[in-house]
Amino acid sequence: MRFENLLAARTLKMHDNAIREILKVVSRPGMISLAGGIPAPESFPMGIMDELSARVIRKYGSGAFQYDLTEGFMPLREALSGHLAKKGIPASPEEIIIASGSQGFLDAVGKVLITPGDRVAVEAPTYLGALSAFTPYEPEYVRLDTDEDGVVPADLERVLACGGVKFVYLVPTFQNPTGRTIPLARRREIAGIIQRHDALLVEDDPYSDLRYRGEPLPPIKSFAPEHVMYVGTLSKVLAPGLRIGFAAAPRVIREWLVRVKQGTDLHTGTFSQALAAEYLSGGYLERHLPEILSIYRPRQEAMTAALADYFPRGMRWSRPEGGMFIWAEGPEDLDMEKVYKGAVGRNTAFVPGKYFYVDKGEGEATMRLNYTMAGEAEIRSAVRILGEEIAKAM
Ligand code: PMP
Repeated sequence: MRFENLLAARTLKMHDNAIREILKVVSRPGMISLAGGIPAPESFPMGIMDELSARVIRKYGSGAFQYDLTEGFMPLREALSGHLAKKGIPASPEEIIIASGSQGFLDAVGKVLITPGDRVAVEAPTYLGALSAFTPYEPEYVRLDTDEDGVVPADLERVLACGGVKFVYLVPTFQNPTGRTIPLARRREIAGIIQRHDALLVEDDPYSDLRYRGEPLPPIKSFAPEHVMYVGTLSKVLAPGLRIGFAAAPRVIREWLVRVKQGTDLHTGTFSQALAAEYLSGGYLERHLPEILSIYRPRQEAMTAALADYFPRGMRWSRPEGGMFIWAEGPEDLDMEKVYKGAVGRNTAFVPGKYFYVDKGEGEATMRLNYTMAGEAEIRSAVRILGEEIAKAM
């Protein structure tokens, strides 16, 4: 049987995520990988997990393993209400919904909002997983110009003025892939533009708690609460395997997200949600977060220092105050594919930046570097090798 013939037209539009392919190569033994985007396993609070797992079973008994509300486990939504208030997002527990990771929301947003051909505005470059989530619903992507401070407001204004944009998707803080953060004044400006055009912004914020320096910034949602769906996750501050994402969305959007989630998975795992509820309500996040930061901060500093020492003239890179990524860019004619092949041949991996653009041909001379998965010494030697391969390709 030719099973390929059974695939839906929609399915045929899905491509293997290029980064998944790269990650297969880099899982080879001996490889130093700056390619991934995943938290360091040593950042997971295993002692706390042990303690809280037992507590969840004592406290909720079989309830922790039973079906639960599609909207999410109420004690977790109560704890998240306090968590979001600290970020400047007032939301009652009823106004907060849970999904299986923030990725679960990105798929649900696509399902609820995108009719084939609808325009969806995304940063150039943007988070590849968002494109994987939206693409099966067959949107037409509109690219938004970015600079060192994230999306350029004048370009957002231009795109929204053209009309017909279903929603705008942004990662305003320590963006994946660039590490860039939209400064305060620009956040206000973007909120104003979104409100003036009566548009919907999906604000994806997995990284803002991973801040190593500088002052926290309010989410764009805090300036335009009625026009922004804020999406958060515990993947980077607890553990991604629990699959806990949360959102505060305008009422109508929220109600439809719940309706589609019923068809997707009924609800997110009850045990995971109960564990996350204990983590937040017991003050464990405040206690454990400094430990996570103390793992990543020196890794980021090691990468920044190594870039200054080893990257050839003509290379530029971002200097984020947090998150998991640094973005580097060479002169236009730099052949990053050649750098990638040379580096992998020397057991060093990264992700060429072109994969994060919706328009083919963009970002050919860019690269995403992750610093959460390797130790400081490894980061230094990986950056040295990359510097040498870049110099060869220049
Ligand atoms: N959004 C962004 C910008 C991400 O970088 C990631 C994780 N790599 C996600 C969403 C998905 O995270 P999760 O589903 O684990 O919450």
